[in-house]
Amino acid sequence: MGTSPTDRRTTTAPATDDRFAVPLRGVAVDPETRCAHWDDPVDVIALRFGCCEAYYPCDACHDAAANHEAEPWPRDRFDEPAVLCGVCGATLTVREYLDGDEEGQRAPDSERGGPSGDDACPRCDAAFNPGCRRHRDRYFETSTSGGESENDSL
Ligand SMILES: [Zn+2]
Ligand SMILES: [Zn+2]
Ligand SMILES: [Zn+2]
Repeated sequence: MGTSPTDRRTTTAPATDDRFAVPLRGVAVDPETRCAHWDDPVDVIALRFGCCEAYYPCDACHDAAANHEAEPWPRDRFDEPAVLCGVCGATLTVREYLDGDEEGQRAPDSERGGPSGDDACPRCDAAFNPGCRRHRDRYFETSTSGGESENDSL
């Protein structure tokens, strides 16, 4: 399917994209939150960043649209909405999004009847890009991602 680059829009801080119910910015964002960097059919989520609490389709969008360094969503706020499904507009908590990965640990290769396994919107069943999980530490603070370099530098 060719995604026609029609309704693309670039929004930079401090403005936000008024097509979405949540504060969202990015580069060439389409109505389902694909962006200039990720525009496959499954690239339909936007992630909220801890630094500015706005949603971006990806971290490159953050760097282009904001003028500060990106910080992942803090672990102690995983129960708050931090993932936007660009298809139905639902906001998912980090736990909802990551569900079945860490918490639910199932058989890793159970084949179901559908093409969409874990990586789908729990609300509208839109398929999400499974590749996002590989670099999810950029978006969500993980227990292992330690910034223990400078504890108390004053
Ligand atoms: Zn930010
Ligand atoms: Zn992007
Ligand atoms: Zn959805």
